[in-house]
Amino acid sequence: MKTLVICEKNIAAKRIAQIISNGRYKQSRLYGVPYYTFNDGEWHVIGLRGHILKLDYPAEYNKWEGISPIKLVDIRPMKKIENRNIVQAIKKLAEGVERVIVATDYDREGELIGVEVLEIIPQPHEVKRARFSSLTPYEIKKAFENLVDVDYNLSQSAEARQIIDLVWGATLTRFISLSSGKVGKDFLSVGRVQSPTLALIVEREKQRDSFVPTPYWQIKATLRSDDILFSAIHEKGKLWDEDEAKKIYDAIKDAKKGVIKEFVKERKEEAPPTPFNTTSFLNEASKLGYTAASAMKIAEDLYTRGMISYPRTDNTVYPPGLPIKSIVKKLEYVFPKEVKEVITNGREKPMRGKTIAHDHPPIHPVELVEKEKLEKREWKIYELIVRRFLATLAKNAIVEITNADIEIDNQVFKAEGYKIVEANWKNIYPYVRMREREIGGKKGEEVEVVDVKKVRDETKPPKRYTQGSLILQMESYNLGTKSTRHEIIEKLYKRNYIKGKTIVPTLSGIAVTEALQKGAEIITKPDMTADLEKKMNEIAEGKVSLQEVVEESRVMLKKVLEMLERRKEHIGDVLREAISKQNFFGKCPQCGGNLSIMKSRKGKRFLGCSNFPRCNNSYSLPQKGSISFDGEYCNICGAPMVTITYKGKWKQCVNLKCPSKNN
Ligand SMILES: [Zn+2]
Ligand SMILES: [Zn+2]
Repeated sequence: MKTLVICEKNIAAKRIAQIISNGRYKQSRLYGVPYYTFNDGEWHVIGLRGHILKLDYPAEYNKWEGISPIKLVDIRPMKKIENRNIVQAIKKLAEGVERVIVATDYDREGELIGVEVLEIIPQPHEVKRARFSSLTPYEIKKAFENLVDVDYNLSQSAEARQIIDLVWGATLTRFISLSSGKVGKDFLSVGRVQSPTLALIVEREKQRDSFVPTPYWQIKATLRSDDILFSAIHEKGKLWDEDEAKKIYDAIKDAKKGVIKEFVKERKEEAPPTPFNTTSFLNEASKLGYTAASAMKIAEDLYTRGMISYPRTDNTVYPPGLPIKSIVKKLEYVFPKEVKEVITNGREKPMRGKTIAHDHPPIHPVELVEKEKLEKREWKIYELIVRRFLATLAKNAIVEITNADIEIDNQVFKAEGYKIVEANWKNIYPYVRMREREIGGKKGEEVEVVDVKKVRDETKPPKRYTQGSLILQMESYNLGTKSTRHEIIEKLYKRNYIKGKTIVPTLSGIAVTEALQKGAEIITKPDMTADLEKKMNEIAEGKVSLQEVVEESRVMLKKVLEMLERRKEHIGDVLREAISKQNFFGKCPQCGGNLSIMKSRKGKRFLGCSNFPRCNNSYSLPQKGSISFDGEYCNICGAPMVTITYKGKWKQCVNLKCPSKNN
């Protein structure tokens, strides 16, 4: 049967062609697009580059000033062809084809990408779907021997998301940008998932700002017994009253000896981590210094090259059919010690997490890869996935916890020891380390008091999010999906709403959030977005139709826009003020105007004066890194001092001709 196979990417198409043809395929090109042929031209395999259709408004509605946001809600977006060459090649290859097999990534987005192809070619006699979780010969062959039907409910749920996100994003972005006068390249964007996510970050920053640290004191003793130095803390722990702390300290500060009153050793087991799903994977990768977007990109790449399983999954339970033993065996050559640990001393049943899903298994390695075959950044991700997989098969670690009570001049101090007795999985997964602390002595024995200190500390505000902890939080609020969360975060950085590794909102990020909160708080709350997410699942399950859900969201959006419209001027004022504050880089020393970052015609940034063209004063800026101004001026030339962060951080006078630069 003349068959056309549609894959997500060219590299996947090549792998699939190679596997099904047992290496006997021919590569050709049509309109510059590579495709693969075998079985005397019976089979063609072609790869796409994501969506071939893009949802957008008809051109006449893309002029922002021409049409009010609320009118835009009712305009039906249309599908535009994204990649002409690929579309032409597919149309050509589809001529006379009896069967089309969709072999894109198996999830909502992949289903829609496949269905889009079916929309642009003549209806073939037969349409089938190949479902697989890894690009390995075993899985691919199994998938092509057990072809299923295309799941139109699944693709409709992806399409509903596309439509709703476009309508919400476009109308709200236009509203906010128009009311603040920020149109053009630096428009202010608002999004269905983006805005509640930004609000989480802004809220956290506000909690930190309003946090009042409370001082407390601790009495810490350094003790020695059996030649082991260890520390102990007064049993009352945090003392909120300095006088009380001082009293205790004064009573024992000259003590030379203490007595161990209680000494209890206890063994505990520590279980390995659960199998990786997208969220836990991104969280761990973030601890290794990867941004969520870059970790995801590497994982997708490793998947397409047949090295790991599909990285977009919520599942944390290995399915019964997963050939765990043979995968472990494969890894032996590069991870001999770790594999031996699992084979000779592994746990009976693999670890399992709380979420069971049936589309894909948890992320795991599928092939052995040698270190030299990967770039360093890729290797570290591959290694993380291998080690996580092996750790979930290893035995619990056994640790020994010691609790000792030491009496010093009638005051009781507590010391805790922690020792690893059997590392087991901890040998395989070195990313979590607890420092071992030993305590010397026995019950009834004397210990030497080496030193006593009264230490002042204070309560700490809640921590800022990292990309990893933000993704965990988004998941717990049902904001976005495993496939979109990292993209949302990247967008917030690109739009200059957030900055830093530990995430800090910028003034414009705060202003947009506050403006939305005042105008229509619902847009910044996770509830509505999570509710739509639920509806999307219901479309996938065939319980509601795309039209119903899209219509419902249109009605909701209109209400939101009406609320915003009523406070339009106020919102505009708030935004304009914040933006001008964010852009303020000091007073011009020549005319007293406001300096701000501007872009030259060639796209180079510089500091320019608000009184241009009356005042020609300007300062060139480094083109890379971030620049900030904290109100300080050069005491030699009067120009602003700016802080530049780029592979380090330093402050300098912005004036390159400043006499201070001569030494
Ligand atoms: Zn000036
Ligand atoms: Zn200067």
